[in-house]
Amino acid sequence: MMDFTVIGHGVIGLTSASMLAGRGHSVEVVADRPWDATASSAACAVWLPIFVAGGDGPAGDRAAQRVRRWAAQTYGAFRRMAAQDRGIRPVDLIRFGASDADRPAVGEFAGELRTYHLPHLPEDMRYAWRFPSFVIEMDVYLRSLDAEITARGGRIRTGVHFTSLDDAVGRSAGRVVLNCTGLGSADLCKDTGFRPVKGVVLSHRQDRLDAILSTGSYVLAPRSDRIALGAGYFTDYATEEPTPKEIDTILAFHERWRELDLSALELTVPELSADRITAAVGGLRPIRLGGVRLEAEEVGGRTVVHDYGHGGAGVTLSWGAAHEAVETAVAAWERTRP
Ligand SMILES: Cc1cc2nc3c(=O)[nH]c(=O)nc-3n(C[C@H](O)[C@H](O)[C@H](O)COP(=O)(O)OP(=O)(O)OC[C@H]3O[C@@H](n4cnc5c(N)ncnc54)[C@H](O)[C@@H]3O)c2cc1C
Repeated sequence: MMDFTVIGHGVIGLTSASMLAGRGHSVEVVADRPWDATASSAACAVWLPIFVAGGDGPAGDRAAQRVRRWAAQTYGAFRRMAAQDRGIRPVDLIRFGASDADRPAVGEFAGELRTYHLPHLPEDMRYAWRFPSFVIEMDVYLRSLDAEITARGGRIRTGVHFTSLDDAVGRSAGRVVLNCTGLGSADLCKDTGFRPVKGVVLSHRQDRLDAILSTGSYVLAPRSDRIALGAGYFTDYATEEPTPKEIDTILAFHERWRELDLSALELTVPELSADRITAAVGGLRPIRLGGVRLEAEEVGGRTVVHDYGHGGAGVTLSWGAAHEAVETAVAAWERTRP
């Protein structure tokens, strides 16, 4: 028997499995879709705790405290990994909002948060906050996590679909199981709390951009080989695939940046055009009304630690949430040690 089975090959499962393997445990990762076909691989992706319950709640709220702690822990992990050539790049993020109430929940750990008042901009963008953040190039980053798990002796199997938690536990080799199936938990755990929202990310041929720009559900992020135009907030969709209408909506929004006077931010936005879009991907953010579910449950005589429902911030919360899930899982593993 192995020590742990992690179900899910997205950012949440891979982070937990990498942490467990790093502590010397035997781990198998089992999942239906491989990392490059998950919501995680569709992400823009930037460090910004939004679109998750608690992400913008009052600071005293329990969900908000948990989200802020996980975001801070992940920020620290990304800062360490930024030097390791695995797709994590430090870049300033400028978040726009209508009033001071929209100030992003960024703690002191993120360094200086500069505030700008921009009365000449549209009403929903009259404030801006600039702070050091990260762009996470998900293809490079997820591949590196996957390789790290294998290098540490972990086993990875994809193309395996579980129909229920009992089925998952019954077919898992681990003494303790971590459920990191994202939106898959709607079926797997009969969890009715999900309200998934679609996003679409366009790849635009390389041009210089010195900061991440973000307002509402839109993000313009510089990557090493392209600019990512994301992501929108589409609640009415029939497929995960991007539709022509969604692509037009995203492009039209981002074309607006150049019409705005951003001189106070000392930033130039390059011209964006449809003929320089090289790819479009869509994905569903696993938004859950009650926020992230991170707790243990006994199923078929084994402990299952759930860690799912990270909404629009799974990458931002990944290391903090994994830390808590792994602590819970290791405690259960120690209790059942022969
Ligand atoms: C367009 C878009 C942009 C985003 N941008 C950002 C961003 O900038 N920053 C940020 O922090 N977050 C962002 N997010 C959110 C982030 O991508 C998600 O929160 C995160 O990917 C969730 O990861 P996960 O591992 O829980 O789920 P997933 O990536 O969906 O992985 C789930 C895994 O579980 C497996 N699975 C599911 N059900 C079963 C089953 N029954 N049996 C076996 N295996 C199963 C799947 O096959 C898959 O391998 C974005 C999301 C989208 C869609």
